[in-house]
Amino acid sequence: MKLESKIYVAGHRGLVGSAIIRNLQKNGYTNIVYRTSKELDLTNCQQVDLFFTQEQPEYVFLAAAKVGGIVANNDFPADFIRDNLMIQTNVIDAAHRNGVQKLLFLGSTCIYPRLAPQPMREDSLLTGELEATNEPYAIAKIAGIKMCQSYNRQYGTNFISVMPTNLFGPNDNFDLDSSHVLPALIRKFHEAKINNTPTVEVWGTGTPKREFLYSDDLAEAVIYLMNTYDGDELVNIGMGKDISIKELAEKIGKTVGYDGEIVFNTSKPDGAPRKLVDIGRITSLGWEAKIPLDDGLTMAYTWFLEHIEKST
Ligand code: GDP
Repeated sequence: MKLESKIYVAGHRGLVGSAIIRNLQKNGYTNIVYRTSKELDLTNCQQVDLFFTQEQPEYVFLAAAKVGGIVANNDFPADFIRDNLMIQTNVIDAAHRNGVQKLLFLGSTCIYPRLAPQPMREDSLLTGELEATNEPYAIAKIAGIKMCQSYNRQYGTNFISVMPTNLFGPNDNFDLDSSHVLPALIRKFHEAKINNTPTVEVWGTGTPKREFLYSDDLAEAVIYLMNTYDGDELVNIGMGKDISIKELAEKIGKTVGYDGEIVFNTSKPDGAPRKLVDIGRITSLGWEAKIPLDDGLTMAYTWFLEHIEKST
């Protein structure tokens, strides 16, 4: 990308899209376009067509998606598969028809089989059964990867796919019903501290292990790949380290300054037992994560205090 290239960031208000915009701006890119979902409904094919015809972006970061935590995925499977299939199909196809030079599609590590060997390598895609709690979402994301690869093969496009591990940071979703574990626990521990509640409820057994990457690290990685990587193979983006949900809860308790007790609600699902990505490919491409989990947690809690706590 040149500094004056026209770059479209789809999903610019979300956790990932907003981090990409911050990084692009920091690095001097001057021609970034974006639209709110009110201005441009990405599930609407005509609107997406009109936008691409008028704006003619050269580069596209496809970070718009319907995302949610384990319970939201379980409760609204139709919404997750429909919205994601529609958004990505509309954007990928319009990108091809309007001659976009390069598109980067953001997938998710839930595309890998539930019991994939850990750490999960890119070539474990489609080698086993998916985790049931988010299968519809995962199938949509797999379709997105296959669309990028198929368009490259049939039309000679340059569409790449990356698989970020669990992300957190500014503009995360802190709604307890639909969020992922990390922002949910920041909110739960913070509210327990403020209200002097003696216990905090953590879902599941606390034994599943997850890997967490701060969104600014992810943004740096995707811009790096947009500038340096051309290929059909997916690329995992992660830290290369994971921790148990129990350890995460303890860390967040410390970050927030809560000294009550943690109780595990085992009537809630655990989901996949472990999700750690193999970072061999991205490391060999020359990128690695820089923000330690503890620093990320402090920054995320500060953001929560300044943006969410204040407005509630
Ligand atoms: P997953 O990575 O797709 O399984 O999605 P989540 O981030 O929603 O959940 C990760 C793990 O954290 C699961 O084992 C959840 O049961 C557990 N967890 C513990 N407390 C919470 C919570 O308050 N909210 C969410 N979303 N997950 C929680």
